[in-house]
Amino acid sequence: MSDCIFCKIVNGEIPSKKAYEDDKILAFYDLNPVAPVHILIVPKIHINSIVDLDSKSIEYVTYIMTKIKDLAKELGVDESGFRLVTNVGDDGGQTVEHLHFHLVGGRPLEWPPG
Ligand code: C5P
Repeated sequence: MSDCIFCKIVNGEIPSKKAYEDDKILAFYDLNPVAPVHILIVPKIHINSIVDLDSKSIEYVTYIMTKIKDLAKELGVDESGFRLVTNVGDDGGQTVEHLHFHLVGGRPLEWPPG
C-alpha cells in the first residue's frame, strides 16, 4: 500500500535498523522502544492486521512464528523470556495499520498491560 509507513520501511523508502530480513519478512528495531529489547516483525506484503488474514496470507504469520525462537535467541532473551504482541484497532492500541508483532523483553514485564 503506497501510503503505509511499514510498506515504506519494507521497500527501503524509510530507513530502519534491521534485526532480520528474508524474502517474506522484515524485523526491525522499534523507534520508541518500551523495553531494552523491542523489535517489530512484519510481513513484506501489506495486511492491515491479524483480523484481515485469509487462508493464503496466514502463511506469513505461520512463517513469522517459526522465526521467533531464533530471533529471541539472537536478541538474548530466549532464556529470560519475552512477550510477543500484536495490537488490533483503536482499543487494542494499533497505530500502524500493517500487521506487525512486537517482540519485547530484556526486563520483567507487567501484566495486565495498561
Ligand atoms: O502496535 P502499534 O501499531 O501501536 O505499533 C506501532 C509501532 O511502530 C510503535 O511501537 C512505534 O514506535 C513503531 N514505529 C517505528 N517506526 C516508525 C513508525 C512507528 O518503529 N517509523
